[in-house]
Order: sequence, then structure tokens, then C-alpha cells
Amino acid sequence: MKLNESFSIIRKIVFISIILICMFIVGAKAAKSDVNYVTIVFPENYETTVMTSNVNVSEILAENHIIILPDEIVSPSVDSLIDITKTITISKVTDEKKIIAEEIESVTTEELLGKYITITDKIIVEQVEIPYETITKDVSKEGTETKDKVLQNGKNGLKEIKYKVRYQDDKEIERTVISETIIKEPVDKIIQISTKITSRSGKRVSSQSPEAIAASVAGITPTIRSLNTSAYCACMACCGKTNGVTSSGNIAKEWYTVAAGSGYPIGTVIYIPALADKPNGGWFVVEDRGGAISNNKIDIFMGSHSQAIIFGRRNLECYIYQ
Ligand SMILES: [Zn+2]
Repeated sequence: MKLNESFSIIRKIVFISIILICMFIVGAKAAKSDVNYVTIVFPENYETTVMTSNVNVSEILAENHIIILPDEIVSPSVDSLIDITKTITISKVTDEKKIIAEEIESVTTEELLGKYITITDKIIVEQVEIPYETITKDVSKEGTETKDKVLQNGKNGLKEIKYKVRYQDDKEIERTVISETIIKEPVDKIIQISTKITSRSGKRVSSQSPEAIAASVAGITPTIRSLNTSAYCACMACCGKTNGVTSSGNIAKEWYTVAAGSGYPIGTVIYIPALADKPNGGWFVVEDRGGAISNNKIDIFMGSHSQAIIFGRRNLECYIYQ
């Protein structure tokens, strides 16, 4: 045998081998990518036909973006293979019997059209405000003239709702709540109704006892703050006038009246533990305003100028009821 001839034989063997290998690969691939048309039936009687090379129920559902909810059942089950009917049926656990009955009696155009309709599921998250509630506390005496005071302003809360939304083409056909998460709790609005105190002359006179002041704020959590505390009296030097009438219209009262900045509304109750041994037991009511009084400063009304000077200026822990 010549060298040329043996080369030619080897070349032929190699060529035939390559053809055989190629045929084998193509054959194997063709067998594997056996394309199926699978019908998916939804609880609302919609159905869609999908083309798939998968035979696994869970994989067919996944590639079509279909999510199964806890109250839905799938036949054949998600962990099995597609059967000879090539149909996957999704039904609601409770509606199962009803759906079968409806399917028998209604082979409508809608159902026939359903075969050309695309159904997809999407998870949608929405934030929704939770409205606050209004609570009214009535501490007034029966049969008296009353006034309202807002003790706490209401604030809306916020929650996040997760839905599964099913679309037929681009139209929403079903929405199911999957979960609700509270991001921010609402804050109640609290209104207190109390008795309006009016004197005979029409000028309001502060006349609440320390016990009555304490009782009027029972149940309210105070804000504790260290305030720069000084004292004043009804003299020209302190007030620029001598009638003792406060910004509230009341006559200032020793061991009762305090002057504070606009951050403390007239009528705000302040308890000062360091002054608990005084005639008022440490309980004060904001009745007055002062020209240079910021929110960190309060002035306690005294019976005389010398008393006010003796009191001086000190930082005291204050319990503020608002
Ligand atoms: Zn004075």
C-alpha cells in the first residue's frame, strides 16, 4: 500500500465519523426539545395555551410568570410532570365544585377567545395611609359651660400592602392581598372637654386647687424638660403695669401663675418637683406671656418684688402636660 492511499482511507474514516457524531447530536437535541402546547386553566374560567419544551408543571408555571396562592390548587400537582391531557388546571380550594359545574355548562366564545389571551401575574406593592382616630376625654362637671382643648394632634399612619395582580393582556382581572405591613402606626388625636371657669365680673379668675390641677392632667404623659426658671411680680419693673392682669385675662395668682413662651399654650399645666413643698405642691398653670420669654424659660409669679429677687434664677426639672 502506498503512503498516499493509506492517508486517503484515514481521511474517509475521519469524515464519516464526524458525520455520524453530528447526526447523533442533532437527533438527541430533537428528541429533547419536543415542543408541547399546554393549556393552563385559571380559576376565573380564563385559559391560555402556551408553547413549552418543559414537561415539569412548576417549570411551565414559572416560565409564564404564574404564581400560585395558598388558597389555590394545581392539577396535576406542581411537583409532577405534565400528563397526556397537556392541561394544567388552577382552581380555588373553596370554589372547586362550582368551577367544574360552570365549565360544563359554558363553552362560550369568551372561553374560545381565552386561548389567544395572555394571562400574567405580577406582585404589586402599594403604600396606603392609615387615618388617625379622634378620642374625646370629657372631664367637665355636668351641666356647666365647657371648652375644648387639643391635648395631642392626630397623625396618619402608613402601611404597605402586597397584592398579587392577574392581568388578561394588559387589563387587571383579579387582585388578591398577600400581606399587609404597618410602617408607621397612626397617632390618635386627643381632645379634652373641660369646664370653662368664669367669674361673676366676666373676668376669669384662676381658682383651681393643686389637687384639681393634678386631676385635670391624670393619664397624660408629661414631657420632662429642664427649664431656666426665674420669678416676677405685678410691679412696674417686672410688667410695665401694676394691675396684675395676665395675657390670659386672669388676675395673676401667687404660687399658681407662670409666664412662658408661645411654645406653651395658655392653660398648659407644669409640675416642678423641686417646688413640691410650696403652697401649690409644685403645680403651676401657664397664664401669662413675657416679652423675652423663650421656650426654655419660664417666670413664676410672686406676691412681691423682693420675693421674686430672692427666688433668683435656676434650672429646674419641669413636667409639662400638653
Ligand atoms: Zn416686680
